[in-house]
Amino acid sequence: MIDLLIKNALVVTCHPDVLTGEIHSPGAIAVQEGRVLEIGPSAELETKYAAAEKVIDGTGRVAMPGFVITHTHMPYVLGHNQPVDVSQLRSFWDMLQKMGWEWLEDITTADGILAGTQYASLKMLKSGTTTVCDLVEAPNALPGPLDASVRAIAETGIRAQIGYEVTERIPGVPIAERLDPSYAERGFEENLRLIDSLHSSGGENGRIQGRLGVHTAYTNSPATLARARDIADQCQCGIQIHVAEIPRAFLCEKYGKSAPEVLEEAGLLGPDVVAAHCIDLTDSDIDILARHGVHVAHTPMTNSLGGNGVARVPDMMEKGINVSLGHDCFFTLDTAEYIRYGYLVHKAHRANPMLIPPFQALDLALGNAATALGLGEEIGSLHEGKRADILLIKPDAPSPVTPSTVVPYFTMTFRGCEVQTVVVDGEVVVEDGASTRVDESLVRKACVEQAAALWKRNGIEIRAESINL
Ligand SMILES: [Zn+2]
Repeated sequence: MIDLLIKNALVVTCHPDVLTGEIHSPGAIAVQEGRVLEIGPSAELETKYAAAEKVIDGTGRVAMPGFVITHTHMPYVLGHNQPVDVSQLRSFWDMLQKMGWEWLEDITTADGILAGTQYASLKMLKSGTTTVCDLVEAPNALPGPLDASVRAIAETGIRAQIGYEVTERIPGVPIAERLDPSYAERGFEENLRLIDSLHSSGGENGRIQGRLGVHTAYTNSPATLARARDIADQCQCGIQIHVAEIPRAFLCEKYGKSAPEVLEEAGLLGPDVVAAHCIDLTDSDIDILARHGVHVAHTPMTNSLGGNGVARVPDMMEKGINVSLGHDCFFTLDTAEYIRYGYLVHKAHRANPMLIPPFQALDLALGNAATALGLGEEIGSLHEGKRADILLIKPDAPSPVTPSTVVPYFTMTFRGCEVQTVVVDGEVVVEDGASTRVDESLVRKACVEQAAALWKRNGIEIRAESINL
């Protein structure tokens, strides 16, 4: 007897990619011990697996692999809608130092990380994201912030790679004034502690993994960057890092080199690196990333927010760089919005409607993203032997969703609220739009309370008129 049979659905395998993947309509997916056992015509599988322990009728629904987000900071949800003085944010530098560090990261506590990560991972699951790569930044919560992340992720049931950002930045001290390698050392210790503990606990049967976090080339010395490479090699954990999210001129002024040049010289780059942003790159910078097999986490919305320009995604793809989708957790947690923005922004930027067709926009958050995280054999598409991370979606589209319209449906009208059922590792973690694992009202309440507590540290008092406290 198998564990789960999803029948009568429009099954979109996206394997090996969205363009060439098989579609079965009506199709079925058989799941056994957390993995896909078989995919095929519904009638055939229904007869073969008549004795499944659980059967989900997918009539009128799309079944597809869960989305994968390769770069974010889940505790950032505590800063959503914070009523800060935006007149102080005149440049990306202001945003980074005030909105990112002073008003958020430097005052984030372990309790805030727990509540924020519970909320963010729950919202992501409910809107179809089954895997996330999270980079935690909270220097005054050291040591231990990753324990809170692991606990939250374990509870909600999302698949995750997590790490703490290694940075020589001293909280409260401008980075141009002074950096301190001992702060980076504390970051390394936090990552190593996590990797050790996941090694001994098994990380929820491999669902939670460590990925060494490094902030940037400009907040770390070459020696720290080289040490990151050594640790990643020793632990076989890969690296996540921000690359070229700031104007190129800043690093050139400091080192006379671009971020990819600094990172290459330090020996950090490699095919186990996920580089977020990668905006202000020259042709030779792109060549460096391509040469080292670096994966890019494209974060179109935050790049726009900071006024940082548009990453050269079509050029990077042309050079063979694997580009995936990240979101930074500055806005909504609905991956549909990021897919749509990634689908549109390059067309607008280059005045070329042929760029990033629908199948390519979807691949950013499916196969490309799985490959970026070194999980290409496990997730990102539906295929026999892969992990059973599956979405069942009831389209709220104004027109028929059929095998020939289902891919453009995702770039045109799909929204995360159309996701009804979410399966991770063969377990139904969201059913009929609700978590099967956590009390959602308590998760939201804890997050709202932690957000209010964080805002209070910025002198922002929330009074009784709050409609959701
Ligand atoms: Zn980031």
